[in-house]
Amino acid sequence: MRYLSTRGGMAPATFSEILLGGLAPDGGLAVPEHYPTLAPGELAGWRGLSYPELAFAILSKFADDLPAADLRALIDRTYSADTFRTEAITPVTNLLDNVWLLRLSNGPTLAFKDIAMQLLGNLFEYALLKTGGHLNILGATSGDTGSSAEYAMRGKRGIQVFMLSPHQKMSRFQTAQMFSLQDPNIFNIAVHGVFDDCQDIVKAVSNDAEFKARHAIGTVNSINWARVAAQIVYYFKGWLAVTTHDDQEVSFAVPSGNFGNICAGYIAKRMGLPIRRLILATNENNVLDEFFRTGVYRVRQTAQVAHTSSPSMDISKASNFERFIFDAVGRDPAMVRELWRQVDTFGFFDLSGTDAFRAILPSGFVSGSSNHPDRMAVIRWVYQECGTVVDTHTADGIKVGLEYREQGVPLLCLETALPAKFEDSIVEALGHPPERPAGYENIEALPQRFEVMEADVAAVKAYIARHAS
Ligand SMILES: *Cc1c(COP(=O)(O)O)cnc(C)c1O
Repeated sequence: MRYLSTRGGMAPATFSEILLGGLAPDGGLAVPEHYPTLAPGELAGWRGLSYPELAFAILSKFADDLPAADLRALIDRTYSADTFRTEAITPVTNLLDNVWLLRLSNGPTLAFKDIAMQLLGNLFEYALLKTGGHLNILGATSGDTGSSAEYAMRGKRGIQVFMLSPHQKMSRFQTAQMFSLQDPNIFNIAVHGVFDDCQDIVKAVSNDAEFKARHAIGTVNSINWARVAAQIVYYFKGWLAVTTHDDQEVSFAVPSGNFGNICAGYIAKRMGLPIRRLILATNENNVLDEFFRTGVYRVRQTAQVAHTSSPSMDISKASNFERFIFDAVGRDPAMVRELWRQVDTFGFFDLSGTDAFRAILPSGFVSGSSNHPDRMAVIRWVYQECGTVVDTHTADGIKVGLEYREQGVPLLCLETALPAKFEDSIVEALGHPPERPAGYENIEALPQRFEVMEADVAAVKAYIARHAS
């Protein structure tokens, strides 16, 4: 399997060659040169596989340059009941007649990002050990991504993590989760400022090519191809869990922000998984819902991004969207370059009335959005009807999913975080806090390790230079 850039300026590369990278050198995103399709009977043969076995069957198609035994060992080490607290890794729970919750949030940080990030940690360590290299990961977080990255990279040889977060602006739970890590390769930097100040610092450091090369600075952001690839697996796992015959179509409802999760679902469908609808749900930041309804992709200015009660979906642009658009425009890199030139210049592009947009609609994508009162009502309703407490992001997905529910078509709603992460919203909806999984009862009381710094690029660079491997 070779990988190309959506903007056409990268020589075909292997999985290993793109693994550690962020953007392609031409500013595009890495995509497989074609999607592997299932052989007749292949899907039927996957019934009864464990999560690691299924992950190997799928990921070996995308990472075919890695020795099979090595990939198998990395996958086995990643997807264990020790890490994900359940043998099934992504179990399903029935909510209503033919409506299911696909539970993706049993990893160490209680959000679905762990599923891909835990594999990434093991893949990165493996790749660096092979080459004798090292990597200093620099990131900015408002909560979820940073902790998921830190729990994936803690203790890994050859890797250090420098994670910037806005000082005293994350939830107490999220702060405790990150800052209680005592691993010497994890550096938490609490910046006096807001999330955008943190992100600006990361951009400024990344734009200093000399500094970046000297200190082997890398990222783990959501455009990393291996993260998307790892997420394809649970669409298959969910499908296998709720179907009995091999051409049974199911629909998935996906709480969406950067289009990473649902992009994996789209690829699963392209591989031949019988998916009827991919139901994209946004919160008040409805960039993607607007696109699927109108054909206009209009990014938001930072100041226009609403701070909502499903904060991990508060995005101004959807960083993985370019992968999907690349296919929609017939894999024409010149067209992709032109569309993103328009985004950079005018803040939007408009595909309405084009063949590309006409082709997207029958492809299974539908969309909708949700707001604070909606998600409060859904959390209450799901609790009363099903006895299950869902988090705010998952509630956005369920809300839109039910709007598109069809008779006789199983609907799988993706659970992207556990309610324990968003206690205040659950108290608001239900009047009592959610249960915390075992081991998380007292995390706020653990000793915390972090550095407080001004929002000053030079100071952050000096700190990295002092501590980088
Ligand atoms: C990251 C995240 C999302 C959005 O996922 P994308 O892949 O960015 O679309 C939704 N819910 C939660 C809880 C998240 O952490």
